[in-house]
Amino acid sequence: MMGQVANKPKSTLKVSFDFVKTPITQIADYIIISANKAGTSDIHFDPREDGMMVRFRIDGDLQDYSFIPKAYERNLTTRLKLLANMNITESRLPQDGAIKGMFGDSYMDMRVSCLPLNEGEKIVIRILDYTRSLQGIDSLGFHPDNLKKLERMMEAPNGIILTTGATGSGKSTTTYSILQCLNKPETNIITVEDPIEMNIQGINQVQVNAEIGMTFAAALRSILRQDPNVILIGEIRDSETAQIAVRAAITGHLVVSTIHTNNSLSTIERLMDMNVERYLLSTALVGIISQRLAKSICPKCRFQRKTTPYEKKIFRNFMKMDVETIWDANPDGCENCRKGYKGRIAIQEVLELDDEIRAAISIEGLTKDELRKLVYTDKTITMLQDALIKNLNGETNFEEVYRVIEMENDDGDDYKSELTAAIREARQDLSLDPAPTVDANGKPVVNVTVNIDQDTLAAAAANNGVVSNLPNVVSNLGASTDGVDPNMPVLEAIPRLGLEVEELDETPTTDLPPSEANGTATPTDNNFQTPEFKQQ
Ligand SMILES: [Zn+2]
Repeated sequence: MMGQVANKPKSTLKVSFDFVKTPITQIADYIIISANKAGTSDIHFDPREDGMMVRFRIDGDLQDYSFIPKAYERNLTTRLKLLANMNITESRLPQDGAIKGMFGDSYMDMRVSCLPLNEGEKIVIRILDYTRSLQGIDSLGFHPDNLKKLERMMEAPNGIILTTGATGSGKSTTTYSILQCLNKPETNIITVEDPIEMNIQGINQVQVNAEIGMTFAAALRSILRQDPNVILIGEIRDSETAQIAVRAAITGHLVVSTIHTNNSLSTIERLMDMNVERYLLSTALVGIISQRLAKSICPKCRFQRKTTPYEKKIFRNFMKMDVETIWDANPDGCENCRKGYKGRIAIQEVLELDDEIRAAISIEGLTKDELRKLVYTDKTITMLQDALIKNLNGETNFEEVYRVIEMENDDGDDYKSELTAAIREARQDLSLDPAPTVDANGKPVVNVTVNIDQDTLAAAAANNGVVSNLPNVVSNLGASTDGVDPNMPVLEAIPRLGLEVEELDETPTTDLPPSEANGTATPTDNNFQTPEFKQQ
C-alpha cells in the first residue's frame, strides 16, 4: 500500500509508494496532501539520472520525502502538469501554472513552475498559505512598539509603506496582512502583482504580463484612472515603477509595496539610486518594515542555559542588559519538533519617518552615515535588537540570531563584524570549534573545518569538481566570501577565502572534488572525512 514508511530507505526517505497497485493520480494527490499536512511551503520534484526525488521545504529547509523510479517519472510529471493546466505536449520550455481545489479536507491554492533540465522536467509547487495573512497584523510577531508604529502608518491617508526583505523573508505575508487591514467597504483597493500570490475578497487584482507589454509601470498608469484609494504594487524593481509609485503617493493614494533590500537604511538609499526626486520621496515615504525569518525554537523542549561571556557582551552592547541565562534549542528535539526547532518567526525593524528624516532625505549630498544616525536612534529597534529580544523571550536562539543577522550584506554595519567575532569565540567556549593555537611566529591559527557534505560533493563530482555552494558553506563559519565566484572550483576558492589547505596527507584526492576539469571523482561512502583548512 501507499504511504508506508520505507524499510530500507535510500537516504532518509519518509515514504515509498507501491507503483504497481497505486494509480499515479492517487500518488500525486497523496504527495500534495501530506506536504500540506507537514506544513510544507514548496514541493520539489527533482529529476535525477535514476528517477525523481520528491522533496518538501519545511521551515526553510528541504527534506527528502520520496523517490519516484524513472519508469513512473513521466507519468507523475504529466499528471502534475495536467492538474496545473499546463501544455503536456511541451517539455522543452518552462511553464507556469496553478492548481486550486480540495485536497483531502483542505482547499488548497498552489502555484506551479516547470523547468526543463538535462535529466527531465523539474517541477516546483508553491503552496500558498493564506492562514497566516488572514490571522491579522498582530499575529505576525511584531514587537509591541513596532506594532504601534505600523498601526499609525496604516492610518496615513496617502504615502508609501514599504516592506523589504529577501525572497522567503515572509514579506508577502506582511504585505497582504496590511492590505487586509485596509480592506474596508468604503475603500477601492487595486493591486498590480507578479504573480498574484493570494486572492482577496473585495480587492481588484491585476496580473502583470510583460510579454504583452503589461508591465508594472503600464498597469499602474491605468490603475491611477480607476479611482483607487489604496494601491498595492507587488514589487518596486525599476526606477520607472518607483517614480510612478511616488507620484501616486503624493497625489492622494496610499501605496503599499515591497522592495528587495535589507533594512530601512538601504531601502532609502535604493530609492534614491532609482532616480526618485528627493523632495518627492521625502514627502511620500510613510514607513519601512524590514523583515527576515528565524527558526522558532520548540516551546516543548527548549531549555535555558548560561550565557557565554561573549553573548553577555552582545546583550550588554546592543541591549544595555546583563543577561545571565538565555533560551536555546534542544538538539535532540522531541515528538513536537525537528531537532529542537518548529516553525519560524519574523525578525523585524520598523521605521516610521519623522520630520527630521524627511528633511534630511530632501538634502542633496546627504551621506550614509548622517542618514544612519537619523534612522537608528533610540526610537528604532534594530533587526539585531529585535532578534535578541526574541531570544530572551524564548522564541528563537542565539544561533538563529547570528544566522539571521549574518545575512546582512551592507558595508559598514559596525555590529556585524563584532557579532561575528563574538559568536566564533562563543562557539569555542562551548567547545563547538577547536580552540585557537599559535603558529611558529606567534600568530593565532584558527582551525576551520570546511563542512562539505555528501550532497555538495556529489553535486561537485557531477559538475567538474565545482562546488557551487561553497561560499555558503564557508560563510557559515564567518569567513568573508568577497572575491569568490559561486562557481569557482573549491581548491581555487579556498585561498581567496583566506583559507589554506592545511594537510591532506593520507587523504586521496577523491575526498576532495578535483580542482581541474575531469570530474571523475565520486563519493564512495558515507564516511567522508572533512579535510581541515587553517585560516591565514
Ligand atoms: Zn521539541
